[in-house]
Amino acid sequence: MSRINDIFVIGGGINGCGIARDAVGRGYTVALAEMNDFASGTSSGATKLIHGGLRYLEHYEFRLVRESLMEREILWAMAPHIIWPLRFVLPYHKGGIRPAWMIRLGLFLYDHLGGRKLLPPTAVLNMRTDPAAKPLKALFSKAFEYSDGWVDDARMVVLNARDAADKGALIMPRTRVVSARQENGVWTIETINTVTGKSERHQARMLINAAGPWVDHVIRSAFGQNEARHVRLVQGSHIIVRKKFEGPRAYFFQNPDNRIIFAIPYETDFTLIGTTDRDYTADPKDVKISEEETLYLCNAASEYFKEPVKPDDIVWTYSAVRPLFDDGASKAQEATRDYVLKIEGKQGEAPLLNVFGGKLTTYRRLSEHALEKIGEAIGVKGRPWTAGSHLPGGDFPVQGYEGVVGKLKSRYPFLTEPHARRLVRRYGTKAATLLGNAQKTEDLGRLFGSDLYEAEVRYLIKHEWARHAEDVLWRRTKDGLRLSKEQVRSLEEYMAAIPAQMAG
Ligand code: FAD
Repeated sequence: MSRINDIFVIGGGINGCGIARDAVGRGYTVALAEMNDFASGTSSGATKLIHGGLRYLEHYEFRLVRESLMEREILWAMAPHIIWPLRFVLPYHKGGIRPAWMIRLGLFLYDHLGGRKLLPPTAVLNMRTDPAAKPLKALFSKAFEYSDGWVDDARMVVLNARDAADKGALIMPRTRVVSARQENGVWTIETINTVTGKSERHQARMLINAAGPWVDHVIRSAFGQNEARHVRLVQGSHIIVRKKFEGPRAYFFQNPDNRIIFAIPYETDFTLIGTTDRDYTADPKDVKISEEETLYLCNAASEYFKEPVKPDDIVWTYSAVRPLFDDGASKAQEATRDYVLKIEGKQGEAPLLNVFGGKLTTYRRLSEHALEKIGEAIGVKGRPWTAGSHLPGGDFPVQGYEGVVGKLKSRYPFLTEPHARRLVRRYGTKAATLLGNAQKTEDLGRLFGSDLYEAEVRYLIKHEWARHAEDVLWRRTKDGLRLSKEQVRSLEEYMAAIPAQMAG
């Protein structure tokens, strides 16, 4: 058995990794176990917006919206490689489900509730003349355009894990927590390595259950509380099609059934369309888009775009479940998106903190709130520090992306423009670590497809715990969109041959 850590975190999604990073940076000793790959749960299946959540205003979630709005520019400054501003075009038509004054009021609050310094404010577009109208049917005379942010969700998770490890946390992917019991004020946690089958015991003064959609499952299976039912699982699915429109702006459509969908420029050549909202009761690991959801998204988008979206256009889909705190709302869309942190443990017992709900956008504040609870439970260490920090590779100014690309190209002149841009979007200033002393393209090793070279795969194995082709193709990067089946197979074979000790 290893030393007694201050904190043991269950779950390597955004919330678990965010809490681990914050805690270790304050001086706590921390261990984290993730049963699969980082972000293999909900945190790679989001719409990927760093957003206030315009529609949550309708449900009077002012606390959540204000906190989320304030976080937009803080997170952008923390990680300007993987987070950037996005303008949303919200077309308006007379007789729509929301009157213009209501949208105006919502956007006024959105602009003024707090935190907006660099993001441009709302504008009104004339849809008879504005280029934003070009891909759309001639249904609209007016649109509102407002700011939010975009994030590479899975990379944000792994960069939190990386930074936590760099600061001294013990980070264990592919490690499932099977039981946890507390005795004499200390937790003993049993884990199984899902690759080797090896069991281990860990000890900690406090346990954090950040298992996302599995949070109740962990309470039931690891702590034996068979009745636990705190979260409501709401499935959301997305489809990806070849690019449906030019330009950097995203669209936000309000459907007649009161639901909304986004159409967002994605990975240069694609359009991301989502999301749906429906209650889910099966095992979260089996979540998959249904035929009904596929048709719903295709039909809804085809109502607005001149060129219809057909199921045959779909190149990829993904689904995930939102682990929402169960506040008894009748409709999936109305369940609160806010998070709830609940401490358990009587005087003299080792405390447990259960994390329910949360968004990507609020993970940093959720972590700070968790650290307040941790401080109350086992004693305060350090101070809040993450607001002015950088995630690995994000140590450049928010407007500095072009400069980092320029520097990379002058140091590595053999890189093509798209390759240099992609590397900076993924790794920021760490792109140079990945490229090392390479002088020419051949120095990057084997090409697996698109511009995915051996050097990048090796970097991901060494620095970001990638072990399977899927980790590389669908979470660390989205090269899965560009590689053929044959190329995926050869990457799988390559990764399977990497010795376990190198793969961490
Ligand atoms: P997860 O990411 O699921 O992490 C929990 C982890 O715990 C998993 O990786 C799992 O493998 C691990 N685990 C479970 N049991 C064990 C165990 N026994 N041992 C070890 N590990 C275990 N938020 C936004 O801010 N913007 C958006 O645009 C947005 N869009 C969304 C769209 C959809 C369709 C969905 C579903 C969510 C969206 N969200 C969005 C919300 C956001 O994605 C989630 O709130 C967030 O990712 C939840 O993170 P988490 O860490 O709590 O859970």
